[in-house]
Amino acid sequence: MSYCRFQHQDVAFYGRIESVGGQPAITRTLVEPPRLLAEFDAAERCELPLSAVRLLAPVEPSKIVCIGRNYREHAKELNHPIPTEPLFFLKPPSSLIGPGDEIRRPVSLSQRVDYEGELGVVIGRRCYRLRDDDDVRPYILGYTCVNDVTARDLQNKDVQWTRAKGFDTFCPVGPVVAEDLDPWKGVRVQTRVNGELRQNGTTTDFLFPLDVLVRFISQVMTLEPGDLIATGTPVGVSPLQAGDTVEVTVEGVGSLANPVVDLVD
Ligand code: ZN
Repeated sequence: MSYCRFQHQDVAFYGRIESVGGQPAITRTLVEPPRLLAEFDAAERCELPLSAVRLLAPVEPSKIVCIGRNYREHAKELNHPIPTEPLFFLKPPSSLIGPGDEIRRPVSLSQRVDYEGELGVVIGRRCYRLRDDDDVRPYILGYTCVNDVTARDLQNKDVQWTRAKGFDTFCPVGPVVAEDLDPWKGVRVQTRVNGELRQNGTTTDFLFPLDVLVRFISQVMTLEPGDLIATGTPVGVSPLQAGDTVEVTVEGVGSLANPVVDLVD
């Protein structure tokens, strides 16, 4: 089961997606973000072809928590040490964009803007200070694609990464949130630029598995329903140019494609 967030006649809704006559359609809608996917069952049935709506980012997080260096080969390609505990940072919710929205390169401030294709995890239930024996799965609502767009030159220049990771449009998310994935068993994460495969990782190569990540973050901050965790990027990052289309594909979720433009003053 999967759901999206979409705009219909100037109003945003969450919509459950089902196959109707072999085509994906929105069959039930909610105005408030779901905390449990079963909430859609209580909504009135409708039928709206998915192709007829404008998709939005499928999350409204209070925060976006990103894991750095969670794949060994990616840490190596940036000449970073292999971490001995998870490393995380925040992206502001103002950086969110949806499927098809433009990534704007801030060319007056950065000369190198990279894609980072990642598995995104959407929190469904508030959690704080989970214990080592707590199961994290009941706190996870579903999974999505994230592009952790990064101004690499600013990341290398600044002591911390808020500027490099925080520009408006630097967090494409979508196209849907899906529940039928098992990152512990292995989910493929791929990135293509203009159709050419650049990243091809699997979550079984995580340095820290998802349960360790969620528990680790929860020792520091309360994770709220709707919060988004980006789980780190595989090897193969490289710069984007204006005119490119970058596409992140997570097995079981789908593909998130965004065009790249230059932000001119
Ligand atoms: Zn990242």
